[in-house]
Amino acid sequence: MSQLYDITIVGGGPVGLFAAFYAHLRQAKVQIIDSLPQLGGQPAILYPEKEILDVPGFPNLTGEELTNRLIEQLNGFDTPIHLNETVLEIEKQEEGFVITTSKGSHLSKTVIIAMGGGAFKPRPLELEGVEGYENIHYHVSNIQQYSGKKVTILGGGTQLLIGLWLLKKLRQLPLFTAEIISAPWNTVSKPYRNHL
Ligand SMILES: Cc1cc2nc3c(=O)[nH]c(=O)nc-3n(C[C@H](O)[C@H](O)[C@H](O)COP(=O)(O)OP(=O)(O)OC[C@H]3O[C@@H](n4cnc5c(N)ncnc54)[C@H](O)[C@@H]3O)c2cc1C
Repeated sequence: MSQLYDITIVGGGPVGLFAAFYAHLRQAKVQIIDSLPQLGGQPAILYPEKEILDVPGFPNLTGEELTNRLIEQLNGFDTPIHLNETVLEIEKQEEGFVITTSKGSHLSKTVIIAMGGGAFKPRPLELEGVEGYENIHYHVSNIQQYSGKKVTILGGGTQLLIGLWLLKKLRQLPLFTAEIISAPWNTVSKPYRNHL
């Protein structure tokens, strides 16, 4: 069992990172636990290269830039970060909450759940034998891997938006061709459509 913390934050995405910053402003002893090997949650993992248009004060920044800024905001504060550690159970006991994880347990007076949509797990295409295709990607971690490739982008709503952003970047790569199979345009909100 670890030492007693004032606040333990489950999830190191944007909400968890900013909550940690605010906890420090209130002089709380705070730690973060995340099941992933890196901080940042969805913007860092699912769309590091996509532009984000709706962060107050920042007309345009990428998922990776947002993550870096949130991490930078924690600089100078002592924030133990436990990565690759999944929270399995939280139990209230007399001395505080006992947080049982895949690696052990933590004791905390308060717990902030900032798990977003939970642990990331793509919903695979419903096609026979789909698990055998290594060239079907559910998120884009490195855009350069598509250089010289023919890419089909499939999706609607947010996914179409990501696809179009991807396309905008991909067009700058040499020898690139793409087609889009998608839901209607009106599944993408207007400010984003105008920006593409
Ligand atoms: C493709 C895409 C594009 C998007 N674009 C935009 C946009 O342009 N603008 C916008 O405002 N929003 C956008 N969003 C939504 C935005 O990313 C989310 O609202 C935001 O990430 C939520 O932040 P969060 O910190 O609550 O959760 P998350 O970012 O989901 O982070 C949660 C963290 O909790 C961790 N976690 C989960 N379960 C456990 C567990 N049991 N134990 C330990 N750790 C755990 C996860 O590993 C993760 O790191 C987009 C989302 C997607 C998928």
